Amino acid sequence: PLPVVAVVGRPNVGKSTLVNRIIGRREAVVEDVPGVTRDRVTYEATWRGRRFTLVDTGGWDPDATGMALRIAEQAQIAAELADVILFVVDASVGVTDSDEAVGAVLRRSGKPVVLAANKVDNQLMELEAAGLWSLGLGEPYPVSALHGRASGDLLDVVLDAL
Ligand code: GDP
Ligand code: MG
Repeated sequence: PLPVVAVVGRPNVGKSTLVNRIIGRREAVVEDVPGVTRDRVTYEATWRGRRFTLVDTGGWDPDATGMALRIAEQAQIAAELADVILFVVDASVGVTDSDEAVGAVLRRSGKPVVLAANKVDNQLMELEAAGLWSLGLGEPYPVSALHGRASGDLLDVVLDAL
């Protein structure tokens, strides 16, 4: 079986956009409305000749009561099935309570976590990305899933963690 990389994070941070960027297709559903991704959609991806399975997580209803709990549950499930976790945070918003909750689950998982500071669309935004050090998950890697900025560098880090 191929190694599994699970993409985890609260709704609307750009997980599906990043998945599309990585697989080079537009199969993951991107929506301005949070929570449209169905539960755990799986893709096969290749980077520098290495094949791996990429799992796009989501599917919770943002209006549901206890959403924070459901996000944490999803993170737990993803952590269990993954070899490496790609944790996506929206650097333009900064760290939210939901991000903290996911971060706590991932820190406890013992699995390697790569922290992506998404929506860093330009150099000025890189300052915002530094705020993600507070999650206690090491270095935040600034990327723009929308524009493709530094997504190759991020994949190098993910594959190194496998
Ligand atoms: P998901 O819920 O985490 O899967 O997030 P989506 O991939 O559906 O993206 C949510 C919204 O964020 C969409 O409007 C995307 O176009 C937008 N988005 C995703 N990545 C970026 C980025 O790098 N920069 C900016 N400015 N917007 C982004
Ligand atoms: Mg999605």
